[in-house]
Amino acid sequence: MRPCLKTRAQRGVDKSVHREAAPDEDLLVRERGKGRGLLLCGTIASERPTLTRRFALAALGSVAVLLAGDASLAADLDWRRLGGEATEALADVIRIDTQNPPGGETAAANALARRLEAEGIKAEVFESSPGRGNLHARLPGRGGAAPVILLAHLDVVPADPRGWHVPPFSGAVEHGYVHGRGALDAKGVAVIELMALVALKRSGQPIDRDVILLATADEETGGKAGAGWIVQHRPELLGNAEYLLTEGDHIHLAQGGRKVAQVAVAEKTPCWVKLVARGEGGHGSTPPAQTAVTRLIRALDKLRRYRTGVRLVRPVEEYFAALAPLEHEPLRSKLAHLSEALEDPVFLAEFSRNPRQNALIRNTMTPTVLEGSPKTNVIPEEASAQLDCRLLPGERPAEFLALLREVIADDTIRVDTVLSFPASSSDSSSGLMAAIRKLAATDLGGAPVVPSVIPGFTDSHYFRDHGVASYGFVPFVLSEDDEKTVHGVNERVSVENLREGVRRLVTLLRALPAR
Ligand SMILES: [Zn+2]
Repeated sequence: MRPCLKTRAQRGVDKSVHREAAPDEDLLVRERGKGRGLLLCGTIASERPTLTRRFALAALGSVAVLLAGDASLAADLDWRRLGGEATEALADVIRIDTQNPPGGETAAANALARRLEAEGIKAEVFESSPGRGNLHARLPGRGGAAPVILLAHLDVVPADPRGWHVPPFSGAVEHGYVHGRGALDAKGVAVIELMALVALKRSGQPIDRDVILLATADEETGGKAGAGWIVQHRPELLGNAEYLLTEGDHIHLAQGGRKVAQVAVAEKTPCWVKLVARGEGGHGSTPPAQTAVTRLIRALDKLRRYRTGVRLVRPVEEYFAALAPLEHEPLRSKLAHLSEALEDPVFLAEFSRNPRQNALIRNTMTPTVLEGSPKTNVIPEEASAQLDCRLLPGERPAEFLALLREVIADDTIRVDTVLSFPASSSDSSSGLMAAIRKLAATDLGGAPVVPSVIPGFTDSHYFRDHGVASYGFVPFVLSEDDEKTVHGVNERVSVENLREGVRRLVTLLRALPAR
């Protein structure tokens, strides 16, 4: 083992939650089995057993209290009509093609702005560059507390119509679903957030705080022309908000119909890099001993063989501990004490077979884009590979890059950073989390609320860095099959989820604490 790796191995379990912890003091890294194979298929996601007695009793108590408190608000809105309008708004906005690149979100932002203005809610659409439209609206509250922001993005990932039951930009409403790219990620989210503003306005009962809606461009390629641009150039639009709600996690529907409300409080962060190898170009018929391509292959092979160390950070430890009561023994005890359980190589192998679980206990590096010669008989002077690396909360990108260079051990290969920002997280015991717990008690049959860490990233980091406590929670109930359609084929959302999503969001906003 090289000296640098030894240093990493001497660290401890990360008990820190917030951004950029001081790893040297409190991290416990257990570097394990370089060269261990990646295993497939897991045990946790497939089944979520019944609530424990403790959970159920606590939930019943809360339901009684909350039902009494909310009775006056329950019947004041026509949810069926609001659901119908949400369905129509989503179908319309799916038909506006906002595949990113290039995005072209302005038309979608304008379509939503028209709906708000028809309700007497002032909306503004502004562009970060031509075609890259962002929507801002603000519904005044009673001024008792700082605003809450509802955020969603209007750009979508590309969709190849092959494999879809209906064309991905048709917005077809069939068999109780709205179909199309963006139905879940994230035009459906933008629409229920917009309809929540409409519902509150119609109710004539403003909540304590202003509700700010931001429907933005460019999330799918990093958000620099959307959320990032707003935070940098129009920070006044955030109105010193206390909380922000956006995509990231949702209400999970497990086998047997059990629901678990997961709220993303932390995310892994991207450290996207490009490896560039150079060498003498020439004719493919007379190759030198080493070329740019062979150097690159050698570097990639070293990375392929390397296994990043297991590291359990506190938000991940807490996430699995919160899921533990939902599992049967012996898994329950293992998840409750994951740090010790992962010491057992057999359990570690089993746990890591699930790619999502594996991604939550280590940094990952995934080669994606490869570039070399455009011609079979031409040796290129340059060859490159892009790696999608994802770092755990608390990791320092500079240290990770140093490790990468050490593994490659070839000074002729340049390592360029394409995208990287520090990790951040939000408090899992805030007033907004309390409001989600109330929602779960009144509306989801006492479903447990689990603060989660997600392996991907959203625009939340821009707002967390700006001091807004940001949470990834969409009040849709989704099965694993539903989740798979995100970025995949046949993306869709049920009309029931749209209707109930608006209602739950309004319930949640009304449950936010007054200052
Ligand atoms: Zn998204």
